[in-house]
Amino acid sequence: MHIVRGRAEGHPSKRRSKTFTGTVWADPVMRQTADGNTISSVTYTPGARTYWHHHTGGQIIVVTAGLGWICSEGSPPETIRAGDTVWIPANERHWHGGTTSTVSTQLGISIGPTIWQEEVAEEDYLRALATAESAQL
Ligand code: MN
Repeated sequence: MHIVRGRAEGHPSKRRSKTFTGTVWADPVMRQTADGNTISSVTYTPGARTYWHHHTGGQIIVVTAGLGWICSEGSPPETIRAGDTVWIPANERHWHGGTTSTVSTQLGISIGPTIWQEEVAEEDYLRALATAESAQL
């Protein structure tokens, strides 16, 4: 059994930039286990998003605040808002983040290691403007 408290003690929030576009802050909820599982609360500012990536065991995202976008390769981007939960199957290539005009905080429960790929091109990110529910912004 492993009890996960509200957040890991003694570990400051980190500004993430290596595999993210824009300003992204990550707060550790459960530090990485030996088999690569992590839980982080990640806040994306407007325009910020992950690089393309996949999770070898899949990922559960619980949107805890704000409004954001998520996209799996080959499908149109979708709007996600506080209260939404997303299951991303193992090895499904995707990205997630805020919208162009809103912050999004996402609790990311990643199963197994995360494999990072290239940056999401601006035109791919902005496809969300056309396909997502722009009336909700
Ligand atoms: Mn992910």
